[in-house]
Amino acid sequence: MKKYCEECGKEVNTKIITKKEVYDVCGEAVEVEARVLICAECGEELFCEELDNATLVNAYNEYRKRHKLLLPEEIREIREKYGLSQRSFAKLLNWGDKTICRYENGSIQDKAHNSLLLFFREPENMRTYITENEVMLKESQKARLLKYVEKLEQHEESRVGRKLLNQFFSKELSEENGYRAFDYDKVCAMVLFFAHKSPELLKTKLMKLLNYSDMIFYKENGISISGLRYAHLPYGPAPENFDILLGTMAADHIAHIEVFYDNGYEKHQVVPEKEMPKNVLSKEELDVLNRIYTKFEKFGSAEISNYSHKEKGYVETKKGEIISYAYAKDIELN
Ligand SMILES: [Zn+2]
Repeated sequence: MKKYCEECGKEVNTKIITKKEVYDVCGEAVEVEARVLICAECGEELFCEELDNATLVNAYNEYRKRHKLLLPEEIREIREKYGLSQRSFAKLLNWGDKTICRYENGSIQDKAHNSLLLFFREPENMRTYITENEVMLKESQKARLLKYVEKLEQHEESRVGRKLLNQFFSKELSEENGYRAFDYDKVCAMVLFFAHKSPELLKTKLMKLLNYSDMIFYKENGISISGLRYAHLPYGPAPENFDILLGTMAADHIAHIEVFYDNGYEKHQVVPEKEMPKNVLSKEELDVLNRIYTKFEKFGSAEISNYSHKEKGYVETKKGEIISYAYAKDIELN
């Protein structure tokens, strides 16, 4: 970029250098790395608005970091997640009309304002605030805001739930999970697939259908579908921590178990609550699920249990042990 240099008295070539500069931010000296435009010939500093502004922003952000203050974009994020305009957010907080606007544009908020903004980052706090205080919002605005809060809370719940769930399942790839990290979405899709196809699917049968699907897919492709590990249980191979998984699926309204009694026997039926999602399972994966479904369509829970007891992977493992996908090669469907 060419610029006029007072020192040289002519248009000169310029270059950008980096140097330390000290700024005064809210009465405090803040040192920053500043990028400065200089004359390539005599080294005189030249004025450049963009670079100056950028340095000023850096100095402000450095000050914010030092005092643990929210950044302007974080303030905007908090406001936007509740679907509020700058003006109505300010109103809700009993602040001046322009206050939020100023903060989002880079003015530094004081400590008290910062604490209040941090407080409103949690949807739960927003709910408490608007239900227990007289707020300066119209009823319709308040109702709309509560809807946003509700959505955020649900989202948060399922996020925490997922995090918990992942702790129970191995993400490290090995022959035990068929070289795939546990994939909750795929498991859900598999469960919905079988639950919709079968009129009265029992939990015991579902476990075997999942196991055969994963094993056959692994046998043919060298990778499992769900990333589940299967353990040797008395009634045949079963997904590890299956009850935790089913509990999560019930909480997420994907499918739940209904218990009923038949001739004095307790039966656990799988009830789907959603359609099977499209695009979660590949065409090849669905093809395997279809073949497994057809093969065992007429099998009752007891029959498929007995059938699975004869598999080499089951015979060669002890109660509670993981049945490796290495045994998949010995499974023959016909
Ligand atoms: Zn010069």
